[in-house]
Amino acid sequence: MKNDLYSTLVDAKIACEQNVPLSGYSSFRIGGRGELGIFPKSVSELVFCISKIKRSGKKFYVIGNGSNILFGDGELDGVFIFTKGLCGVRVEGNRIYAEAGASLSAIATAAEEGSLTGLEFAKGIPGSLGGAVYMNAGAYGGQMSDVTVSSTALDTENGETLTLTEHGFSYRDSVYMRSPSLVCLSAELRLSAGNGDEIKEKMRSLAVQRREKQPLEFPSAGSYFKRPEGHFAGKLIEDCGLKGLRVGGAEVSKKHAGFIINVGGATAADVSELEEKIVSAVYERFGVTLEREVRLIK
Ligand SMILES: Cc1cc2nc3c(=O)[nH]c(=O)nc-3n(C[C@H](O)[C@H](O)[C@H](O)COP(=O)(O)OP(=O)(O)OC[C@H]3O[C@@H](n4cnc5c(N)ncnc54)[C@H](O)[C@@H]3O)c2cc1C
Repeated sequence: MKNDLYSTLVDAKIACEQNVPLSGYSSFRIGGRGELGIFPKSVSELVFCISKIKRSGKKFYVIGNGSNILFGDGELDGVFIFTKGLCGVRVEGNRIYAEAGASLSAIATAAEEGSLTGLEFAKGIPGSLGGAVYMNAGAYGGQMSDVTVSSTALDTENGETLTLTEHGFSYRDSVYMRSPSLVCLSAELRLSAGNGDEIKEKMRSLAVQRREKQPLEFPSAGSYFKRPEGHFAGKLIEDCGLKGLRVGGAEVSKKHAGFIINVGGATAADVSELEEKIVSAVYERFGVTLEREVRLIK
């Protein structure tokens, strides 16, 4: 049957793919096939696509670098909008203006090259700007809320573009997470003048720490669970003796128990079953309920 939305986008010369293999767009390397994938190359293309999707009545998902998502198995309905093509980054004084699909690593490199301090924490986070603002991503004492001054959002309910200066940030939470109709298009980050050598050294040493502590050699979505108040998820999981526990191809990393890794051929069902085992073991032993940080799209 002819897919009208697909034809409309092809006619408008927007890159898109039917039956898109989602595992290729997830750092977990897990996922079935999405009904339609769209790859806009500019903010105006993205806005155009969303107006057409809304008219078609299909549900849609905005995907940055797919580094905090578990896609379900099998066939997934809806439209998957990949923002990687929106990758502009501009430095002006101590401000950086970046589009939603720009990688955090590229933005941190721009800061480093401009001797701007404040984004050292972000260099090793494998996400896009939009995903990082959405998640209020953070590491090693820094988080996006420290540097985000404003962002431009598309309200997909009415097609309006808004400038947000309040993001309601808290731990791994933002107004974007709480307002599913908002899509982050770009953001303005404010940094401070710093010493280029010190910034470079800080980024280098944080990268070493990551490589030493995290199972970067396996596909994953980073820390699978949020940090429960007063605890560390990885420590609780390790203290339950769960390191190395496997369901199918999904394993509790032996290097860092807070990571679920794909040791080969893991399915979303494997990961979810492993998640359940972890959550119940930690609750039984410590009375702490672990909450998933990774976003599930199924
Ligand atoms: C090895 C590894 C290490 C990691 N280390 C860290 C870490 O130190 N700290 C940390 O916080 N996270 C970490 N993560 C998790 C992840 O990188 C971050 O959460 C990152 O910010 C997600 O960005 P993304 O572009 O990949 O988002 P995605 O995974 O693509 O999406 C995440 C969520 O954001 C939404 N989203 C994406 N873009 C937009 C947009 N433009 N507008 C609206 N919503 C959007 C998606 O719909 C989804 O709900 C790690 C992951 C891995 C694999």
